[in-house]
Amino acid sequence: AAGGSAGGSVRFELEKETELRFEVESGEKVQLELLSGLAEVFGSELTRNKKYTFGSGSKIAVFTWHGCTVSLTGKTEVAYVSRDTPMLLYLNTHAALEQMRQQAERDNERGPRVMVVGPTDVGKSTVCRLLLSYAVRLGRRPTLVELDVGQSSVSVPGTVSALCIERPADVEEGFSVQAPLVYHFGSTSPGTNIKLYNKLTSCLAEVFSQRCEVNRKASVGGCVINTCGWVKGSGYQALVHCASAFEVDVVLVLDQERLYNELKRDLPYFVKVVLLPKSGGVVERNKDCRREARDEKIREYFYGFRGISFYPHAFDVRFSDVRIYKIGAPSIPDSCLPLGMSQDDTQLKLVPVTPGRDLTHHVLSVSCVEDEGTEAAASGPGGKRRGILESPVCGFIVVTAVDTQAQVMTVLSPAPRPLPRHTLLIMDIRFIDLK
Ligand code: ADP
Repeated sequence: AAGGSAGGSVRFELEKETELRFEVESGEKVQLELLSGLAEVFGSELTRNKKYTFGSGSKIAVFTWHGCTVSLTGKTEVAYVSRDTPMLLYLNTHAALEQMRQQAERDNERGPRVMVVGPTDVGKSTVCRLLLSYAVRLGRRPTLVELDVGQSSVSVPGTVSALCIERPADVEEGFSVQAPLVYHFGSTSPGTNIKLYNKLTSCLAEVFSQRCEVNRKASVGGCVINTCGWVKGSGYQALVHCASAFEVDVVLVLDQERLYNELKRDLPYFVKVVLLPKSGGVVERNKDCRREARDEKIREYFYGFRGISFYPHAFDVRFSDVRIYKIGAPSIPDSCLPLGMSQDDTQLKLVPVTPGRDLTHHVLSVSCVEDEGTEAAASGPGGKRRGILESPVCGFIVVTAVDTQAQVMTVLSPAPRPLPRHTLLIMDIRFIDLK
């Protein structure tokens, strides 16, 4: 049956190389259980007779290589079995990458650096997750590089990040996010500040390359880079920039022949550009759906996820104790720029901000940069001081109230006061705490 289910338990017999696709109705939960055979969800194996719970709006595919029986309990919007899946092609892609890793191991070279590109809603994140889970199941230690500032799978929206993958993604929760390296971008679209976006891509590439130099497993494991769905104009240029910054070996283009041809034309000949079909199961998400997903990601950061509850703290921060910046001055016509200054300079400029009421509900990144005046700040590692833009973020807070009279703001923070650092960067992104 292609329709949804009213809430009871429904059994599905899956033949080999087919998948059960389902969507959880909004405001509902659905339990999945593997009754017999073998099956996986986006590359992570299911344990037999364990009940997996998926929340409101989840869109899931249960794939089986050899056949299985599963049951669904709860209200689904749709639930159907499809034999038409690109999984075999994805598996072959994984096999080719694994061969590159074996060769890298033999020849003392580095493993494959893979960039996954395509328009929005073609299953880029899902393909990244699949390839990473398959690699880690073979004992590899690949790195996930998350450049999708709209829908990050690693941190809150408005960030780019890198994460070493040590175990397959959890079926319900995705990859375990411990100690990711996160940078502040500040908005959900790279177009808001493409110079900064490209700069952060370069930063991540540099940090990853440094890690590969000292960590053989990371080097052989390579990386899988998830990108934004913006593939035209500056968005396209950002992909080309990323390919060069990371010196990628393989580009997987999902679903768009035009993008495939453009990249084949513009990237060096030794980069393998591969066109892959998208899965018919990938569901388009509208604007509201995306906004909800972003909100949920921020809520999770402060309040936790499913079984694990966090208890965030609220406290006052004096304006005089922090320095707040916005990155990028409003752009002005070229003719008005001071002599010797370019637009790049304005996009990467740190603009000090005096807190006002309009700061309420904004998410702020707490920069890891050493506070001014400390010894460490004066002589960072290697004697060179890292700038605020190139410094990772150590956490996020939300401004819940601003009192301009008293010169204090109230913030929501994952940790009790005081703030670990005092340089704060404003995001365009707002979060209204309804708890
Ligand atoms: P993108 O990264 O290109 O925006 P995603 O990988 O996030 O796309 O996929 C969009 C949505 O489709 C996600 O909710 C994902 O869980 C779902 N999805 C992906 N593949 C399948 C599939 N084969 N069957 C059902 N849902 C899927």
